[in-house]
Amino acid sequence: MGSKPGVMYLFGTIFKKYKWNFVFVVLLISMTGFIIFDFVVYYSIRNYLFRQTFDEMRMKTELSVVILEQKNLLPLTSNNEALWSWVFQLKSIVNSRVSIIDSAGNVLCDSDVRREQVSAMDNHLHRPEVQEAITAGWGQSYRISDTVNRRLFYTAFPIHFEKEKVGFLRLAYYARHFEESMEIVFNSIIIATVIGLLVLFFGAFYLGTIVTRPILRIVGTAQRIADGDLNRSFSVVRKDEIGALNRILNQLTTRLKQQINLISDERSKLKNILTNLNVGIIAIDQHERILNANTALFHILKIEPDDVHQKKMSALLSWDPILAAVRSSLQNNCTNSGEFYYYDSSGKRFLNYFSSPFSISEDELTRGVLVQLTDITELKHLEAIRRNFVASASHELKTPLTSIIGYAETLLEGALKSPEACQRFIKRIYEQSRRLEFLVSDMLKLSKLEHDIPLKLRKIKLVPFLNRIVDTFREKAALKKIDISFNYVDRNIGIKADRELFVTVFENLIDNAIKYTPENGTVQVQLLPVNNQRVRIEVKDTGIGIDAKYHERIFQRFYRVDKARSREVGGTGLGLAIVKHIIERHGSKIYLDSVPAKGSVFYFDMDMI
Ligand code: ADP
Repeated sequence: MGSKPGVMYLFGTIFKKYKWNFVFVVLLISMTGFIIFDFVVYYSIRNYLFRQTFDEMRMKTELSVVILEQKNLLPLTSNNEALWSWVFQLKSIVNSRVSIIDSAGNVLCDSDVRREQVSAMDNHLHRPEVQEAITAGWGQSYRISDTVNRRLFYTAFPIHFEKEKVGFLRLAYYARHFEESMEIVFNSIIIATVIGLLVLFFGAFYLGTIVTRPILRIVGTAQRIADGDLNRSFSVVRKDEIGALNRILNQLTTRLKQQINLISDERSKLKNILTNLNVGIIAIDQHERILNANTALFHILKIEPDDVHQKKMSALLSWDPILAAVRSSLQNNCTNSGEFYYYDSSGKRFLNYFSSPFSISEDELTRGVLVQLTDITELKHLEAIRRNFVASASHELKTPLTSIIGYAETLLEGALKSPEACQRFIKRIYEQSRRLEFLVSDMLKLSKLEHDIPLKLRKIKLVPFLNRIVDTFREKAALKKIDISFNYVDRNIGIKADRELFVTVFENLIDNAIKYTPENGTVQVQLLPVNNQRVRIEVKDTGIGIDAKYHERIFQRFYRVDKARSREVGGTGLGLAIVKHIIERHGSKIYLDSVPAKGSVFYFDMDMI
């Protein structure tokens, strides 16, 4: 139940500023007070002056009657000369009009009317003061005179002659002073009231300013807080209600700040999660309009992030499978998933989608759909590589196995009897078995590398390390009359690497260099400082070289430029794939410079320690 609106509340609707409402109320109340006070004062003064005037006149009239009765001017007649002159004399003394009226109401003498006109005057018996004098012994009235047309004070007293009432003596006083005095009183009251109201106006204005100042300060601070400056606070110096209000407002602001911080923390956490997700997320409402989309989605769709809020979902997702999934999720309140592919400038791309309904509002009535989009192109690519690898590996393994089976069958079918054939076939079986062993061992090495087993990083002094490896190949090189050498400038160069894996790297590179270099060629292993921190390690040959179009592919598994030749020299097609893997795991990259028929240089850089 709301309380009844108070006076201030009602007046508060008149002016927009509290101060003016305050001033208005104060002036209104004071003005009412002033008017009442003015009336009381004015009429008190007026009554007092009235009474005084009448008292004085009564006294004068009574005294005049006493004098008249003793002066031997009676009986009363209108042509009594002595009476007339006494009347004029009296008028000049009492400063009033003097009328002598007989008991029948006829005016006998009148100081303000000429003698010949007296008889034409009205009968005065019914004049209020005369009537009152008949009934009460004396009479008074304040009224406009019919004769002189002015407001006058009248007093009348009866005149007695030989104990009989023979007429009335009436004084009429033109109270100019009274009228003037009342006018002065009235003007003074009005001036005093106006001055009082002015003083009150300025007082109320000043008071209003003082009263509203802290309120205005609160309004100003609250406005700034509402505008977003949450670091503002209300002054708590005062100990009164305003101070209490400020303290409460400060508490409210603090709580507001905490709530906002909490919400914005949650929001930024959610935003960060959504932004850093590798999965594209898009929220769609029941009218198929976009509510939100994360950065990953734009990344997956390969478009610049843009404000897509409230746009139609088809503006962003134009693939039928996704559109159908979203609509089905919206209509049937179910989840849908699947994958599809399309072509863009980078080639064939695979996307995986998952659409699930969610409620937008707390009442669970407004529903939307959340779509997760994952780019699985890379995954598909890896899957294809794995399939290829399995196919290639099976194929590579099958070839020597088929040969072994073939030779064994031939032996079983009778070749065993011929010692010559027997030796030849067993030698072939041995060669193919060795080939199988190399293959399996290379595949195992690759598999180990792919399982990311930790590197055993140790300092390797490159000169003695490479010297030893090169020495193991001298015999093999000599067989092909290849000159193998190892050149270096600084014999103290050291690097940090996994010794066992680096042995594999150099064995493969030097072995390849010898294998693919014809007789009388050269193979050089070189250490070349790149700068103070890095050293370049090269394996250089003057062999058959590699056409630029194969430079990328020779590092792939089982890839060989010339399959027959590779097999002939005992290659597995895995060597360079292993080398590349090892170098990359050491944080570097292997490069190849090669010209067909001239030779090749495989090189990579390492940090020196
Ligand atoms: P392989 O066991 O067949 O040598 P690799 O992975 O070591 O397998 O090499 C892949 C292919 O790269 C080889 O089949 C060969 O065609 C080419 N190749 C590697 N090293 C050299 C080289 N030094 N000179 C010319 N060709 C090379």
